Amino acid sequence: MPLSLYNTLTRKKETFTPLDPDNVRLYLCGPTVYDFAHIGNARPSVIFDVLTRLLRCLYSEVTFVRNITDIDDKIIKAAQENKEKIMDLTRRTTEYYRNDMKALGNIPPTQEPLATEHVEEMITMISHLIEAGHAYESDGHVLFSVKSFAGYGQLSRCNHDEMLAGARVEVAPYKRDAEDFILWKPSLPEIPGWDSPWGYGRPGWHIECSAMAQKYLGETFDIHGGGHDLIFPHHENEIAQSQACFGSGTFAKMWLHNGMVTVDGEKMSKSLGNFITIHQLFETTPGEVVRLVLLSSHYRQPLDWNTQVADQAHQSLDRFYNALRGRKINETVPSSEAVKLALKDDLNTPLAISALHEIATRVNKAQSDAEKDTLASELKASGAWLGLLQQDPEMWFKGADKGEEDAILELIDARNKARAAKDFSEADRVRDELLAKGIVLEDSSQGTSWRRE
Ligand SMILES: [Zn+2]
Repeated sequence: MPLSLYNTLTRKKETFTPLDPDNVRLYLCGPTVYDFAHIGNARPSVIFDVLTRLLRCLYSEVTFVRNITDIDDKIIKAAQENKEKIMDLTRRTTEYYRNDMKALGNIPPTQEPLATEHVEEMITMISHLIEAGHAYESDGHVLFSVKSFAGYGQLSRCNHDEMLAGARVEVAPYKRDAEDFILWKPSLPEIPGWDSPWGYGRPGWHIECSAMAQKYLGETFDIHGGGHDLIFPHHENEIAQSQACFGSGTFAKMWLHNGMVTVDGEKMSKSLGNFITIHQLFETTPGEVVRLVLLSSHYRQPLDWNTQVADQAHQSLDRFYNALRGRKINETVPSSEAVKLALKDDLNTPLAISALHEIATRVNKAQSDAEKDTLASELKASGAWLGLLQQDPEMWFKGADKGEEDAILELIDARNKARAAKDFSEADRVRDELLAKGIVLEDSSQGTSWRRE
């Protein structure tokens, strides 16, 4: 069965045919870095990670680009509120994002371009758009003329009035038409900016993605994705800019959009106080549990985060790791056909997860150790397609990831050294430090081991 994906552009499930089978190219809109990423930001990153894993099994090479938006009005505002330098804020929060992605089990993208390092490419594109009559300069701003581009609205299928309502902005005096959008805007000396033919300024958000996608993936590439909320205006504007610049038929062939994440049935918002960052979740919930929850609904459906789904995912992982526990894993055993087929059918992750449950049941029912080992090997190989079940089962039940385990072992080592030097107050301090984190040390003639309280 070939891979089929739902293309938002055609509103149909289509067979995926790469432009170049030797290099499949995809782009995902990355985060705007000014704070911790929330659970809604995590969903597209996990879905695209599963898609990339699948494509890597089907094709020899995959180039996956996910950008970092490190210049934006929200960033400037947050830096002012924190009384922090903009560069310090973006560096710090980019690091948080990368750590969160790692804890979710995502493989880093092939390229992770920063918007601030690609302003030259954006200026080049904007200049082309002005020359071609698709953009105009007005009062230090450069705007894209929506009327000049006949294909506008092809992705969102919004009519003119809906677009205006969607833009929800007062018509600025420098705009010729209300729907025109910003490609470049002036910056004040204290705000980050770059010299350009239109004065000192900074790029609009939409042009960032068009310029970075073209640089790393070419004028035409296979798949572009993001959350459903980006279809309009962000993705519609990306198409307009890129096709107006590079010709019709260019830019992404397929568009994938994931449904929104709610919390306890409600839309996440700071005012409702239900805004959950992934960083907060990791204090109580292992990254793999968060990942499993994010894959437990089909990506196009909405997903609700609540304690029941998290508990359920935790129990599922306990069940899977129990099936793997103590088994001899044979790396040559292939993954399950059922998991592969489910993922090839528009990334049907809920079906793939139920196939994992069936394998776990077969492990439990198997009569011989050899049969259990083979089935457990199949379970682990199948889990890899989803980026799941790759931990040591003992580590899973200890509830620690590798980084945490290393940190604990380092402290145990420091305590042993303090005891050897008869510095018992330091040894007690280290033991108490671990105890405060819920780690209990047990000394025996074999040395020191640890467990959770
Ligand atoms: Zn984008």
